Amino acid sequence: MAQPQNIVVIGAGICGVSAAIWLRRAGHTVTLVDKDAPGAGASFGNAGLIAQWAIVPVNTPDLPKTALKYLINPRSPLFIQWGALPGMVPWLLKYLSNATDRGTRHMVDALAPILMDGIDQHHALTKGTSAAKWIASSSYSYVYENRAAFEKDKLSWDFKREAGLEPELIEGPSAREAEPILSPNLSCMAVLKGHGHILNPGAYIEDLAQVFAEEGGTYRKAEVRDFTLNEGKIAAVETDQGPMPCDHAVLAAGIWSKPLMRKLGLKVPLQAERGHHLHFKNPSQMPRNPMMLTRGKFAVNPMSSGLRCAGTVELGGIRKGLSQGPLNLIRRESRRAFPDLEFDDVEEWVGFRPSTPDSLPLIGEIGQTGVHAAFGHQHIGLTAGPKTGRIVADLISGKRPNIPLEPYAPLRFQR
Ligand SMILES: Cc1cc2nc3c(=O)[nH]c(=O)nc-3n(C[C@H](O)[C@H](O)[C@H](O)COP(=O)(O)OP(=O)(O)OC[C@H]3O[C@@H](n4cnc5c(N)ncnc54)[C@H](O)[C@@H]3O)c2cc1C
Repeated sequence: MAQPQNIVVIGAGICGVSAAIWLRRAGHTVTLVDKDAPGAGASFGNAGLIAQWAIVPVNTPDLPKTALKYLINPRSPLFIQWGALPGMVPWLLKYLSNATDRGTRHMVDALAPILMDGIDQHHALTKGTSAAKWIASSSYSYVYENRAAFEKDKLSWDFKREAGLEPELIEGPSAREAEPILSPNLSCMAVLKGHGHILNPGAYIEDLAQVFAEEGGTYRKAEVRDFTLNEGKIAAVETDQGPMPCDHAVLAAGIWSKPLMRKLGLKVPLQAERGHHLHFKNPSQMPRNPMMLTRGKFAVNPMSSGLRCAGTVELGGIRKGLSQGPLNLIRRESRRAFPDLEFDDVEEWVGFRPSTPDSLPLIGEIGQTGVHAAFGHQHIGLTAGPKTGRIVADLISGKRPNIPLEPYAPLRFQR
């Protein structure tokens, strides 16, 4: 084992808790610090999918055309807070500049290694612990109105097929036989077998934080405000509770990593893709497996505490709370897809996906500062968090992970 180090991990979402657990297992002294309780950020309310298949980013070559179509249709799943638009233009331009054939190929090739063994990574993280109970095996279906709508998604399926993700098509009345909750109007399911989901993402992160504590880690509730560097190398993480001296720090604060990178003198193009969920309590019906309602662009997950419908994209930053547009869309489309669904109550939630212009996270040491990035996982952080944490723990322990890390280079936006 490498020399034990004193390490502060900032942020107790899926990326932070995973890094903290793997660092602790490597024998380091680890403090996990969060301004809130574990799992208070995006990791709480996501759709809970271990989305091994999500290798195709949103910014593919057909995005400019689709986005224009969506923007003139108020019932589409893309929303913009227009007042925030001017501030987002530089990010949007960079984001669109990657929506080319070459850009998409690069993103798919770099997303696959951190996604496609997602279930194994969650199992490795939780093996023999109380958190293992939250991981379920399942199939995942993309649900379409009909075959023509499925065929319109050709670009995305071509990339998936190339990666060995071949869907089984279930059509006509068979779709409802496979998933009795579905409306007869939805007559085409593209099913991917052998995947998995989380039964309660909030409870999963809480249990992972507990596992970290049981394995000898320390949890501190404090807000990180700055870093103290000594000759360019981290000496302490500064918090509202005082300094936390360390040999290394891991920055895993999701969307809030952006202002903390500023403290290191670095400007990172990180934009919040706002996503919402409706969580139906005590539902009269549940799907047998998770699915994506492709018309509404949100996922549906039968969780232990109810039926969660989560997704849509709203651009507009992190200041505002819930937005009624996306919530209404989820409400309308879930009613349409599940006409017989009844429930006792519904929880509304908004969260912030931390997204970069090339849809790839930042993973690895930031220069030679001893501060290591583990953020920027857009729509796929729950899936890739455990592997990200393991990569960062390996790097700090002097081990070279066996995947190319250049695509995730933390300084790539500074060039
Ligand atoms: C609607 C929706 C659905 C999604 N569905 C899926 C899905 O099905 N599958 C999937 O893989 N991904 C999904 N995602 C994406 C996924 O949720 C995120 O990528 C992931 O949760 C990001 O995790 P994180 O650990 O980087 O950040 P977060 O979970 O946001 O955690 C960051 C933590 O840092 C803490 N923090 C921030 N600032 C400070 C500070 N200054 N000091 C101390 N602590 C601080 C916060 O309190 C927070 O706990 C979805 C996202 C949304 C919004």
